[in-house]
Amino acid sequence: MRTAAPRPPTARREGRKALDLDSPATARSTPERRCLACGRRAPKADLARFVAAPAGNGRALARDDGGRLPGRGLYVCRARACFERAVARRSFRRAARLEDGELAIDPALGAALDDDEQV
Ligand SMILES: [Zn+2]
Repeated sequence: MRTAAPRPPTARREGRKALDLDSPATARSTPERRCLACGRRAPKADLARFVAAPAGNGRALARDDGGRLPGRGLYVCRARACFERAVARRSFRRAARLEDGELAIDPALGAALDDDEQV
């Protein structure tokens, strides 16, 4: 008859965010996100982050490279093509869990992404 080894305390999860869906094995590496348009997975820093920021009565897509704005991050490649594809498919609006027409998107946001690629 064997005595069971004492179990380690399972208190490690207390600091984790509820949104963290990564498995524990990969949690320490660079967090990856998926482009809403092409589905490419890339480190967060390689993608452009947007949030659905409050604007007037609704929401407007806002670029948030610093990752400082509150809200759910919406990521696409730093390429106008991916931005425009995400707009055309309403991927931003869906990812932000908004109803049709609730998210205003300034097309100029996409043009700024092309500038990034040339750096
Ligand atoms: Zn993409």
